Amino acid sequence: MVIDKKSVEKKYSIGVDLGGTNIVSAIVKYQGKIVNRLKVPTLAERGKGATIKRIIETIHKNIVQSTIAPGDIIGIGIGAPGPLDIKKGIINFAPNLPGWRDVPLKKILEDEFNMKVVLENDANAAAWGERCFGAGQGVNNLVCFTLGTGIGGGIIIDGKIYHGNNCGAGELGHMTVNKDGPRCNCGNYGCLEAYSSATGIKNRIKNRIKEGIKSEFLHFDSDDELSESLRLKSIFEAARKGDRLTSDIVEEAISYLGIAIANIANILNPEMVVLVGGITNEGDKLLIPLRKEVRERAFYSNYKSLKIVIGKLAGNAGVLGAAALLWIPNNYSCRG
Ligand SMILES: [Zn+2]
Repeated sequence: MVIDKKSVEKKYSIGVDLGGTNIVSAIVKYQGKIVNRLKVPTLAERGKGATIKRIIETIHKNIVQSTIAPGDIIGIGIGAPGPLDIKKGIINFAPNLPGWRDVPLKKILEDEFNMKVVLENDANAAAWGERCFGAGQGVNNLVCFTLGTGIGGGIIIDGKIYHGNNCGAGELGHMTVNKDGPRCNCGNYGCLEAYSSATGIKNRIKNRIKEGIKSEFLHFDSDDELSESLRLKSIFEAARKGDRLTSDIVEEAISYLGIAIANIANILNPEMVVLVGGITNEGDKLLIPLRKEVRERAFYSNYKSLKIVIGKLAGNAGVLGAAALLWIPNNYSCRG
């Protein structure tokens, strides 16, 4: 890991993970140790101004609780949903944050805290976190899939986050895996996210039940009840017990993820694919069939040299990666 020597004297930075559901803020020591962490609901429905106020209040509270002198903090790194203008620090649009259009979050926070602020795509921040402090330490060619409500991705090439021509690289959830597949949130059809995200899995189960296909373990009288009961954990449990409907959907979710990883293996030949997010709680139940799918599809030499692993930072990959952006120089070669 390369650390800017001048910055090491000031040993802390702040990582913020801005999500549609929660804002997580953490004061992080430069070796990756979290000194103080706060998680508050985003309450995005209250509007842009209210959310920005909550971000600012949370960071202030975080600093106070940590008892670290603000002068010892070198800056703030924010992982945010995109599309973003990373260079200018502007959130152009965020589907899960209503009313957010061209918000200059970097400038707003620089004015408020009088310290350096870096904005990064949330999945890139998670990839960077795993690379600096988690499963990918010392790995220079790494691809990270963030498997949550949606699917994001971060690509690290030669030790640097790959941003692409205009900062739009890494949208792994929106690679088409089946041209005739279900509609995705992005408007396209057959994206990986429509199959292998938590939302994709739940929607596909709901649709099957509505079509009249019976599940042995999931019973519902109303739509509300259906949404309430469909937790990822119970879906995987039902699949394990042999419930046909859920096991079909789960197998397909894993299979399509394997197809996506095989594509990545053949195109980029990375050393490691790191998976983070709720579905990774399944551990080997996910990894074993996934590796089998990748082995069957990727060039053998690319598969053989590829480690497919689960991230080590649990829910903190994003904040740790965002905080690490302050210490570890990265390239922003995209035009913005
Ligand atoms: Zn899509």
